[in-house]
Amino acid sequence: ATATESAHAALHARHLAVAPDWLATYYARPIELTHGEGRHVWDAEGTRYLDFFGGILTTMTAHALPEVTAAVTEQAGKILHSSTLYLSRQAVELAERIARLSGIPDARVFFTTSGTEANDTALLLATTYRRSNQVLALRNSYHGRSFTSIGITGNTAWSPTSLSPLQTLYVHGGVRSRGPYAHLTDAQFTAACVADLEDILGQANGTVAALIAEPVQGVGGFTSGPDGLLAAFKEVLDRHGILWITDEVQTGWGRTGDNFWGWQAHSGSGTPDILTFAKGVGNGMSMGGVVARAEVMNCLGANSISTFGGSPITTAAALANLGYLIDHDLQGNARRVGGLLKSRLTAITAGLGIVREVRGRGLMLGVELVEPGTDTPSAAAASAVLEAAREHGLLIGKGGLAGNVLRIAPPLSLTVAEAEEGAEALEAALKQAQAELEGGTAQ
Ligand code: PMP
Repeated sequence: ATATESAHAALHARHLAVAPDWLATYYARPIELTHGEGRHVWDAEGTRYLDFFGGILTTMTAHALPEVTAAVTEQAGKILHSSTLYLSRQAVELAERIARLSGIPDARVFFTTSGTEANDTALLLATTYRRSNQVLALRNSYHGRSFTSIGITGNTAWSPTSLSPLQTLYVHGGVRSRGPYAHLTDAQFTAACVADLEDILGQANGTVAALIAEPVQGVGGFTSGPDGLLAAFKEVLDRHGILWITDEVQTGWGRTGDNFWGWQAHSGSGTPDILTFAKGVGNGMSMGGVVARAEVMNCLGANSISTFGGSPITTAAALANLGYLIDHDLQGNARRVGGLLKSRLTAITAGLGIVREVRGRGLMLGVELVEPGTDTPSAAAASAVLEAAREHGLLIGKGGLAGNVLRIAPPLSLTVAEAEEGAEALEAALKQAQAELEGGTAQ
C-alpha cells in the first residue's frame, strides 16, 4: 500500500474504534474530504470528485464560495462571541430577510444550530400552543435525530427507539409510487390521503397539535405526493384548528426549482403556521431556524435564550450565501439545469433493468433502483452504484425506506456542462453496477 493509503486505513481504524457503531459513513473505504471549489471536492489522496450530493449535505450554492469565505473571515477577525443576550446586526438583517421570504404573514424568526433543533422548537411551539402532545406526521418521514424528532420520524431505518414524549399518528401522503394508493390518479390519491387523514383524526385522543410534513421527503428517497396535497390536508386541519408545520430542511431555498419553498407547490389554501429550515442556509456553517406566525411563536410563557443560535459567524455566512443565491437566481438555475439533468437521466436509464423510476424536480432528483427486471427494492444496487460512481469521480447520495434510491442534489450553481459530465459518470456507474449484480459479484 502507498503511504496515503496506509494513512487512510489508520484513520479509518481509529474512527471505527472511537465512533458509535451507528454513526454511518458512505463507502467501504470512507472518503476524507479536504477541500472543495465550486461543484467539486477533493479527498486526502488527491482525487477530485464532482459533487452531486453536497447541495443536500449543506453546500447550498457552491464549495468555498468566495463571498461566504470573505464574510466568515471578516467576522472571525472581529468577534465570534455568541449569545442572544446581545443584539446582532446581521442576525436581525437575516431574520428580516427570511421572514420576508417565508411567505408567512406576521412572521417571527428564531435561529438554531441544526435542523433537528429547529424541528424540536417547532414541536415545542405547536404542542404548547395547542396544549396537546398529539401530532400528525407522514409515513416514511425523517425529521431529525433528537429524542423528540425521532418520535415524528416514520422512516424506521432512522428511528432507533419507539419511546417518545409525543403521541404520533402517521398518515399517507409522502410516497406516491408505492403502497396501497400507487395505482390511483393524482386526484384519487389526494382524495384517498385526505380520507386517511380524516379517519385517523376520528381515532385521535382529543386535541391534535400539528401536522408536520416534508414537501418532498428527503431521507425517504426524494418522494412526494401530488402538488396541492398539503393544501387539501389544510382544509381538514383548519376545521380542527391543527397547525401546519412545513419541514423545509431539504426543500427550501429554491432547490426544487419551481418554488422557493417546497410548501409553495401546495399553497392552494393558505400558508404554513410554522416553517423549519437548516442545512444549506449557512453553506456549511451550522445554522437552522424556525419561522412562525407571531401568535404561535409567542405562545411560550417563559424566557429563553440561545447561546449559538444566530451567532455572528453563522449569520454572516448565511447573509452572504442567501445574497449570492438571490442575486444569481440560483432557483432559476435549479429549474433549468435540473430540468435538463432529469431528461438526461430519464434517457440514459430507459433501458436499464435496475432502474424503476427517475423522479423529482429542480436539483432534487431521485433514481429508484430494483433487483434487475423486478419491482423489488435493491439496497445492494444503490450501494454498488455509489461505489461505481465514486470510481467515475462522482459523489451521489442514497436514501429511501429500503435504502434503494439514489439521491442527486448538487450545489445550486451547477452548470450545464457539469450536469452533462455527472450524467455520463452516472450512466457508466449504473451500467457497471447492473453488470455486477447480474453477474452476482456485487456485495
Ligand atoms: N429534517 C429533514 C427533512 C432533514 O433531511 C434533516 C437532515 N437530514 C433534518 C430535519 C435534521 O437536520 P440536522 O441533521 O441538521 O439535525
